Amino acid sequence: MNGLMMDMPLLISDLIRHADRHHGDTEIVSKRVEGDFHRYTYRDAHSRSKRLAKALGGLGVKMNDRVATLAWNGYRHFEIYYAVAGSGAVIHTINPRLFAEQIVYIANHAEDKVLFIDLTFVPLVEKLAANLKTVKHFVIMTDRGHMPKTTLPSALCYEELIEANDDKLEWPTFDEKTASCLCYTSGTTGNPKGVLYSHRSTMLHAYAAALPDALNLSAADTILPVVPMFHVNAWGLPYSCALMGAKLVFPGPHLDGKSLHDMFENEGVTMSAGVPTVWLGLLNFMKESKLRFSTLKATVIGGSACPPAMIRTFQEDYGVKVLHAWGMTEMSPLGTVATFKGKHAKAEKDARYAVQNKQGRAIFGVDMKIVDTEGKTLPNDGKAFGDLLVKGPWVTSSYFKNEGGDPLMDGWFPTGDVATIDPDGYMQITDRSKDVIKSGGEWISSIDLENIAVAHPGIVEAAVIGVRHPKWDERPIVVAIKKPGATVTKEELLNFYEGKIAKWWMPDDVVFVEQLPHTATGKLSKLTLRGEMKDYVLPTA
Ligand code: ADP
Repeated sequence: MNGLMMDMPLLISDLIRHADRHHGDTEIVSKRVEGDFHRYTYRDAHSRSKRLAKALGGLGVKMNDRVATLAWNGYRHFEIYYAVAGSGAVIHTINPRLFAEQIVYIANHAEDKVLFIDLTFVPLVEKLAANLKTVKHFVIMTDRGHMPKTTLPSALCYEELIEANDDKLEWPTFDEKTASCLCYTSGTTGNPKGVLYSHRSTMLHAYAAALPDALNLSAADTILPVVPMFHVNAWGLPYSCALMGAKLVFPGPHLDGKSLHDMFENEGVTMSAGVPTVWLGLLNFMKESKLRFSTLKATVIGGSACPPAMIRTFQEDYGVKVLHAWGMTEMSPLGTVATFKGKHAKAEKDARYAVQNKQGRAIFGVDMKIVDTEGKTLPNDGKAFGDLLVKGPWVTSSYFKNEGGDPLMDGWFPTGDVATIDPDGYMQITDRSKDVIKSGGEWISSIDLENIAVAHPGIVEAAVIGVRHPKWDERPIVVAIKKPGATVTKEELLNFYEGKIAKWWMPDDVVFVEQLPHTATGKLSKLTLRGEMKDYVLPTA
């Protein structure tokens, strides 16, 4: 016997319809590429999304067609999210920081039919256009007055498309398993692979992300996603915020410390999200300029391990709660968030930090386990570490066009991360399996060693990599950037490790550098660093 509830598919268009109907006057504020601010409401965003959906129909976009963007976080990008998915087409957000060849590869692989471009990226696309085999229309995301002179064939103006259509449109209804968005992994090995989300997976993820023990979103919040809308859909915030009716603030390309701090203060931002590198820049700026946050209550930090020192600085110096989260493109992206349980209420400060330093507990919808090299499940004792496997309705089952074959192991997705899980269910990443340092048959966590280095007052950022050693196979070295004016030496930094780690984890060397390489999503690129350091020889070798 079936239940007697209404049979309604979970569709992304319902989010914007809900936000319009129930939070119609809630604001969306964007700092534009042009430098000025744009303000409007969910009601306006819905109306313009419908007009854009009609325009897309006029351009010949049909169900399942891919429509790509090369764009910053802004209201037009937000409208494209809803117009494309709402129409049953697939929005493909391209990371503009990828190498040009990778952009061409993924646009062709995705068979993008329309490409929406922020003004910043017009010169980039002009160079690539001849190689973009499937793109029929280039749309520049600006108004007539700002349209640049361009060599792009028959470039269209975004605002003209909107103006040419009205908003008399009923969003179509279709199967909730229909594809909605496409994101490519950054492909540190081999070509990038496409992760294809569905309406159902996106909606379930949007509900789950909003929960109190996840990102704790509310209609009373003002949220500024620093994480780009081309990095796993800004971690789902454009969906979850519409679901809750939270005010959104989009920073556009203005991601420097001063611009971000001004926006936080002027718009009353209560909550934000981004990778550790971004916060590093902001915190340095705040310290130098002796600034405070007056409204910010919490921030999500994830994408790579959040150094414990950063969690303390946010919470103790600025009164901002850190939500340390872990996930990946293949997981839409949210998997775990380090939030407390009731039993931690009376715990000592250090014990509470120990909880927050971990990557967190699985949110409902994500199941996880760790296994050894034979695939045998390891105990959740907080000590045993192994390959982390996940499953759930917003975890990928295979890549777009079945690239790379079946990725699953007995129905579980292997994350490529090595982790422990403690008896309370808190997971801690030891390393990415390709970054873990293997010394004398034992494993050393590069993340742990990096976290200690950046806790030293003279260090800004540090990467720990394994280098060849004739006897031990690999030994760790620290590659670090000093704070301006800091006099920290190799010996001092190594002394700083004393008592904090097992003796055999002690790095064999410290190399000070001016810069460290980052990936297109702002994470330390150890692959590039290992390449840069290929001629380096250990003093101990
Ligand atoms: P890419 O960085 O290749 O673009 P993702 O953004 O999907 O791909 O990155 C996912 C990976 O990032 C995870 O598998 C994990 O290694 C790392 N990661 C994400 N969040 C955290 C975190 N809080 N702590 C440690 N590692 C993290």
